[in-house]
Amino acid sequence: MPMSSTPAVLVQQLQKRYGSTVAVADVSFQVEPGQIYGILGPNGAGKTTTLHCLCTLLRPDSGRIEVYGIPASENPKAVREKLGFVAQEVALDKVLTGRELLQLQADLYHLPRPLAQERIAAVLELLGLTDRADQRIGTYSGGLRKRLDLAAGLLHQPQVLVLDEPTVGLDIPSRLAIWDFLRQLKNTGITVVLSSHYLEEIDLLADRVAIIDRGKVLAEGTPEELKTRVGGERITVKLQEFAPAELAQRGAQLLGSLPFVQKVVINSAQGNALNLVVQRNGEDPLSQIRAHLQAHGLEVFSSTQSRPSLDDVYLAATGQTLMDAELAAAEANLGKKKK
Ligand code: ATP
Repeated sequence: MPMSSTPAVLVQQLQKRYGSTVAVADVSFQVEPGQIYGILGPNGAGKTTTLHCLCTLLRPDSGRIEVYGIPASENPKAVREKLGFVAQEVALDKVLTGRELLQLQADLYHLPRPLAQERIAAVLELLGLTDRADQRIGTYSGGLRKRLDLAAGLLHQPQVLVLDEPTVGLDIPSRLAIWDFLRQLKNTGITVVLSSHYLEEIDLLADRVAIIDRGKVLAEGTPEELKTRVGGERITVKLQEFAPAELAQRGAQLLGSLPFVQKVVINSAQGNALNLVVQRNGEDPLSQIRAHLQAHGLEVFSSTQSRPSLDDVYLAATGQTLMDAELAAAEANLGKKKK
C-alpha cells in the first residue's frame, strides 16, 4: 500500500524537563495515517509528557512536532482541531448525565446545536452508551466513564485520537471493550496514538511501537519486526514440576554448554524451570536438549517452545523486564515520597 507523503504525526528529537528532572530526553517517531501507534514504557518513562507535548498541552524545550504537516509550535490551534485527547485520569463531573457532559464538550467546540445532537447520538451509539446516556456519571463504572471520555474525545471528529494509557485500572471486560472499539475506529481511518505499559495491549493493537525508557526511544518498529530482530526461540524446560535448586543448576550448566544455546536462566518463579534462548541449527533444538540431558542421566519433565514475545523485546532493549522496570519505578516513587 503506498504511504501518504505527509505523516499523520511527526515527533522529532523531543526534549522536555521539569526543573532538574529530564522527563523526555530524546523521543522521535512518525505515525502514518490510519495506523495505531503504541508508545510502550514503564511508569515514569516519559509517555504522558510526550503525549502532552504532542497535544500542545505542554511546550517542549526543543524538538519538532507536526500533525498532518502542521507545526505544533507555530499553529497549536490548528493542531488541536485535528487531535482528540483522552487523558489518563478521567475527571468527569459526576452530577451531570453522560449526554449533558457531551453537550458541554460540544459547546466548547462551538458545534451548532442540531449538529451537536446528531454527533452526540452517534458517539453514544458507537461506544455502546446510548442506554446510559441520561443517567448521572456518578452511577457509571470505571469502564463506562472511560468510554464516555473516549466519546468526548471523538465529538469534534478528530483525524488523530491520542490516548494516554486508556485501559489502566480497568477490569478485563472493560479493557476488551476498549480494544474492540479502537480496532473499529481504525477501520474508519482514524489515526490512533496510545501509550501503555501493558505489553499485551500494544502487541494486540499497535501497527508500530516505540519502546521508551527514561525519556528515550530504545527500539522502534512493528511488533513483528522487533520480535524478529531479537531473534532466537524461547524454550522452557522443567526437570521436575518443582526442581530443587541444585538439580536446576546442574541442568543449566549442561544446557549452557550446548553451542546453539545462547542463554540459560533459572526461573525460580516457575519452579526452577530453565528458560533458554536458542538459535536453530537445522535440527530440532528440543530433541538435542533431551538427548544431551539423557546422556547425563537427566530427564525432561515438561517443555514449551515459543517465539520471542514483546517482553523479550523489552528485555533486550532495556536490560530488564517491563515488570522489573515497573517495580523499580514504584520503589523510586516511594523513595521520593518518603523524603
Ligand atoms: P506514568 O505512566 O506514571 O504517567 P509516564 O511514562 O507517562 O509515566 P511521565 O508522566 O511523562 O511518564 O513522567 C516522566 C518523568 O517526569 C517522571 O520522572 C515524572 O516523575 C516526571 N514528571 C512528570 N510530570 C512532572 C511535573 N509536572 N513536575 C515534575 N516532574 C514531573
